[in-house]
Amino acid sequence: MIFDIANSARRQAAALRVALIGNRMTRFETSEAPVLNPQIGRVIEEVRVLGREIEIIWDDGVVLRTKMRINGAWKIFRASNQGEMRGRSAQVVIGVEDRVAACFGALDVETHHDFDPRRHPLLGPHGPDLSDPKLDHESCVDRMIAYEDSDATVAEVLLDQRVMRGIGNVFRCELLWSCELHPWAKISSLNRDECRELVAIAAEMLQPESSGRLATLAVYGRHGKECERCGGQIRVTHHGEANRVLYWCAECQTRHSGSGSTRYVTEHDTPPNVHPAEFIYLSDLERARKSG
Ligand SMILES: [Zn+2]
Repeated sequence: MIFDIANSARRQAAALRVALIGNRMTRFETSEAPVLNPQIGRVIEEVRVLGREIEIIWDDGVVLRTKMRINGAWKIFRASNQGEMRGRSAQVVIGVEDRVAACFGALDVETHHDFDPRRHPLLGPHGPDLSDPKLDHESCVDRMIAYEDSDATVAEVLLDQRVMRGIGNVFRCELLWSCELHPWAKISSLNRDECRELVAIAAEMLQPESSGRLATLAVYGRHGKECERCGGQIRVTHHGEANRVLYWCAECQTRHSGSGSTRYVTEHDTPPNVHPAEFIYLSDLERARKSG
């Protein structure tokens, strides 16, 4: 029976991925009282499944976890046909442009941040907020230079809230591309000027007077497409402790590639002709087969 529930969760997760991944959220409602609410306008980046738990992850690292009862389920509706939902009380409703996903009969609904110190009590307090007009750039640079895990990759450190706050995953991918940095480069291989450049670009984008939006995306969501800088092919992979998706160009993001951390392997690299949602589904099946 437990196996059936897990199978059902995997099927629901597959449907959620097709409906939600890569889309900006336009609506969020919940009857629960989560610690933090996912923000309207953020991109839904991943749907993970672990046994009977389904996790939805936004590009700023917010994670919504639902633990499903035997008869609980996530259902997908067309935005134009929400009449089907009437009369049923959903615990969570997530809307994107053309679809609405609704969760019924969950045992638990909770949210957290991938790097939330409350979930990782050994971690320190939050770093400076990049959207603060009085941001002390050097303080962010100091935290990067003094990063205690010298084997950590620059891609991981950019999302670590203890170093600086405000970089979501979409912007992380774009930031690495704009600085031609290899995502696997060890943070300890970057010098002060390179850290300064990352902080300066990030702050410029996230300060209130900036539009806060990238006009066009160079790599994020462009898997299999041509890199506008070098003509290479954009790839997508999973990376880091939180295993977030990472879009990058292997042809021109070569700075510090020699120092690449070997902690994370690239076995999750998506073949160019496979949609990321399909790839994640196949990877989940593969993992379930190995563990079952
Ligand atoms: Zn390129």
